[in-house]
Amino acid sequence: MTVLRYIWRGVLYLSFFILVAAAVAFLIGDQLGFAVKPTVQTIDKVPFSAPPLDVPAADTTYARLHPPAVTNPTPIRNVIMIIGDGMGVGQLTAALDLAAGTGYRPVLPQMPVAGLVRTYTADNLVTDSGAGATAFATGYKTVNRRLSKTATGQSVRTLLEQMRDEGKATGIVTTSYLIDATPAAFAAHVDHRGETEAVTTQMLNAGITVLFGGDGGTFPENRLRDATRNGYTLVRSLEELAAVPDSARVLGLWDEREGFESYGPPLPDLVPRALAQLDRDPDGFFLLIEQEQTDGAGHANRLDLMQEGVLEVDRALRTVLDFAAADEQTLVLVTADHDTGGIGIVQGYYQNGEAEIRWNTFSHTSDWVPLLAAGPGAAAFTGVMDNTDIPRRLATLMGWANFPALSAEAMP
Ligand SMILES: [Zn+2]
Repeated sequence: MTVLRYIWRGVLYLSFFILVAAAVAFLIGDQLGFAVKPTVQTIDKVPFSAPPLDVPAADTTYARLHPPAVTNPTPIRNVIMIIGDGMGVGQLTAALDLAAGTGYRPVLPQMPVAGLVRTYTADNLVTDSGAGATAFATGYKTVNRRLSKTATGQSVRTLLEQMRDEGKATGIVTTSYLIDATPAAFAAHVDHRGETEAVTTQMLNAGITVLFGGDGGTFPENRLRDATRNGYTLVRSLEELAAVPDSARVLGLWDEREGFESYGPPLPDLVPRALAQLDRDPDGFFLLIEQEQTDGAGHANRLDLMQEGVLEVDRALRTVLDFAAADEQTLVLVTADHDTGGIGIVQGYYQNGEAEIRWNTFSHTSDWVPLLAAGPGAAAFTGVMDNTDIPRRLATLMGWANFPALSAEAMP
C-alpha cells in the first residue's frame, strides 16, 4: 500500500509540475525562446447583418470602364494607381462582407478586371512597404527597406519619372506622411527608407505637380523654402487648397488626423481636387493615391479602423471611377503592397448576427494581394502576377521601349 501511495503522490507532483511549466511557458515562453502561445493573436466578435442575397447588377455608370476588345484598345491618356497599404484579400473580404448587410454599396467589387499579385522581395518572402512599392514603381524586386534601387544598389527608373518625361503631369496623394516608403518609392532612390533628408530633397526636385501628404515633421523651414523655389504653392488645409489656382504646382502638407495614424482630409475630398489640377495637362497624367490606415490598423489588429480604411479607399475609388467613366481614356488600378495582419472571418451565422474574426499576426504576411483594374488596357491585368509585372505590363500597353530601366536619376 505504501508503494502505491508513493506512486500516487509522484503522479500528483508530476501533474502539478507540468501545469506550472505550461503556465510559465505560456506567459514568458517568448522571452525564453520556446513560444507556446497560439499563433492567433486577436479574436474579435462583432455584430453584423446578413448581406443581400439577390445582389443587384453592377452600376451602369461604370459600364464603359469594362475593358474594350484587346485588339482595339482605346489609347491610355491617364493612369491612376490606388494603393491600400496592407490591404490584402483578407482585409477586403472582412471589411466589405461585414459592411454588405448595412446597405452600403461598395465599388471595389464592381471593378471589371481582377488579378492576384505575389509580393515576395529579393531577400524575404514577406515584404515591407519599401520593397513592395519599389516593385510596382520600377518593375524590379529589391531588398526590404530599399527605395527604387536594385538589390545590388543601382538606381532604377520609376513609373512617375517615366510618365513625367513622357510629358504627363504627375501627382501623389497619400494619407500617410508624404515621404513614407510607398509615395517615396515613386520619386526617390535611396538604400534605406530611413534616409529622410535625401528622400525629401529628391521628392521636391522630381517635378511633381501635386504632392499631398502628412507633414510628419520632415519639412522644416529650409525645406519649405526649397519647395517654394521649385514653384510649389504650400497649403495646409482644404480651405487654402480651394484658393489655389488649378494651374499651380501644389504641396499640401497636413496635420495628423484625430483618430489613427493618418494625415489630412479624407481622400474623397482630396482626390477630385488633385484630378482637377492634373487634368489640365493636354498630355494626360499619372496619379498615385495611397491609403495608409489599412496598414496601421492591421498592425494593431483593429477591425474597425481597418474597415474604415478600406471604405475610404472605396469612396476615393468612386470619385476616380466617376472621372474615368466621363473621360474614357483613364486606366484605373487598385492594389496593395502587401497584406497586414492576416485577417479572416472564421464564423458568421446570419441567425445570431455575430461574426468571429481572427488576426494572424501584428505584422505583414506574404499573402497574395488583389489587383483590380478598369478602363482602357485593364484586360492586361488578369491572372497571377508578380508585383514587378504591374509596371512592366503597363509599359507594354504604353509602348515604352525604355522601361523598366536602370537610371542615373536623383542621386543625392
Ligand atoms: Zn506595415
